[in-house]
Amino acid sequence: PTGSLVDMIDDAVSRFRSRPALEFFGKSMTYGELGAEIARAAEGLRRLGVQKGDRVALVLPNCPEHVVAFYAALRLGAIVVEHNPLYTARELRHQFEDHGARVVIAWDKVTDTIADFPADLPMDAIVSVDITQSMPFGTRLALRLPVKKARSSRTALTSGKVTRGATTWPQLLSHGALRKKHPRPDVSDLALLQYTSGTTGSPKGAMLSHFNLRANAEQGRAWVPGLREGNEVFYGVLPLFHAYGMTLCLTFAMSMGARLVLFPKFDVDLVLSAFAKHPATFLPAVPPIYDALQHAAKRRKIDLSGIRFAISGAMSLPVAVVERWEDATGGLLVEGYGMTETSPVAVGNPIGPTRRPGTVGVPFPSTEIKIIDPENPSVERAPGEAGELVLRGPQVFSGYWKRPAESAAVLLGDGWLRTGDIVEVSADGFITIVDRVKELIVTGGFNVSPSEVELALMGHPDVREAAVVGLPLAGGGEQVAAAVVLKPGAAFDEQAVRDFCRRGLTAYKVPKRILVVDDLPRSLIGKVLRREVRETMLKAAA
Ligand code: ATP
Ligand code: MG
Repeated sequence: PTGSLVDMIDDAVSRFRSRPALEFFGKSMTYGELGAEIARAAEGLRRLGVQKGDRVALVLPNCPEHVVAFYAALRLGAIVVEHNPLYTARELRHQFEDHGARVVIAWDKVTDTIADFPADLPMDAIVSVDITQSMPFGTRLALRLPVKKARSSRTALTSGKVTRGATTWPQLLSHGALRKKHPRPDVSDLALLQYTSGTTGSPKGAMLSHFNLRANAEQGRAWVPGLREGNEVFYGVLPLFHAYGMTLCLTFAMSMGARLVLFPKFDVDLVLSAFAKHPATFLPAVPPIYDALQHAAKRRKIDLSGIRFAISGAMSLPVAVVERWEDATGGLLVEGYGMTETSPVAVGNPIGPTRRPGTVGVPFPSTEIKIIDPENPSVERAPGEAGELVLRGPQVFSGYWKRPAESAAVLLGDGWLRTGDIVEVSADGFITIVDRVKELIVTGGFNVSPSEVELALMGHPDVREAAVVGLPLAGGGEQVAAAVVLKPGAAFDEQAVRDFCRRGLTAYKVPKRILVVDDLPRSLIGKVLRREVRETMLKAAA
């Protein structure tokens, strides 16, 4: 990549000026209008004191303001920090202490929480966004949302002894456009601090540059065949505050002048009702979303055949979900693999007849891989042997924000990144994700793969879902334990389930303890949180 994300959006604005860029509840914004709003928001942020290298925190659901704020902060050379607006006050405060943002642009539902953060944080301005303001009047009425009047004057949010500048989104945009000559970021500058999902520990801020993010959008262009510039319709159901949605929905859409339909949350009815007006052609999502949409569309006789490409990632995609989706739509559903640290996509299935369901495909263009021994990273595994995936490419990040030790632990030098994922590679180069290194269970000197035990458990006719973890034993080592969700009406006989597992697994892999739960804990994007399962089981045992 030769230009920054700012150059990329400017290019889209000039090439696709009168074409639609964003849709939000039936209100649309063209690329020309988007460019003009970005210039005004950038001027507003400049007046709040934002300078090159400052962090600008966004705490927003998907909405047009989110997109405008992202590019406006980048335009000034600032580093955007994305946050999940549904995080608790404690989780958000932890991140704010980490990144030290000067200015925050937040959903009005969370501005009070943020205003309460300790006085010693460098944050001095909060811009609140009322997402209902960008909904057409009729939509607000239909959704029974109050039709509020935007506060127009700049005020202060005072809480306890802290006073912070408070303003509103319309106020931020009221100062005219940023001067064209204002210095622009370089392609090598940092663009985004993107926190990891926190599946295995507390979230870490991955430092991603303009170069990284732009590279991943361009790799995506090389990956997906037959994209029509200015004519694709992307659905943004994944959150833009996660690496997956940021690249696959936002920067990828903008790179080709697509129309991006934004949804503040995934809701089957919201998504299907958007089909009547702007049928999607490209849908990045996760397996539960594909099943929910396909099922509801069949019931409501909505034609999904316009979706040529559906891309799944973040968690494994069951082959049965692929079959149901492809039967229902006639389009393709392919799986890829990535992580926040790789902007995020690193591996993907070929989009066409050579794709292989059940695998995550082959390395992305300009991405190299090696398979190593996780205990001994300098030792490469023989072809065909499972091991930890390490990779390098232009999308690989430069480290975690203010965490040199954790950065050094994953960056091996020469651009190689340890993924922490155990994979198998077939003779012809297709990669299958097996487990996370951190979640392997060590019992009696053996390594047990939780996903292998989960598959065995889910083969039992009474078990709908399972999560397998290691519980510490008094004498050291771990014990294999499982939490299971039963199928409706099923009766649970622990010994029978254990005997069933024993038929397909060596004795040391069979769970010693099985707990029945109503639901498995999942991250916002839908990953099973084995860490929480482990805590629950420890408590249950105590
Ligand atoms: P943390 O690093 O904070 O513990 P996380 O690793 O879940 O959280 P992300 O960067 O969002 O945070 O997720 C990357 C991980 O998601 C990968 O390392 C891998 O374990 C998993 N993953 C991604 N794609 C797939 C896939 N197609 N199949 C299975 N697992 C996947
Ligand atoms: Mg991770």
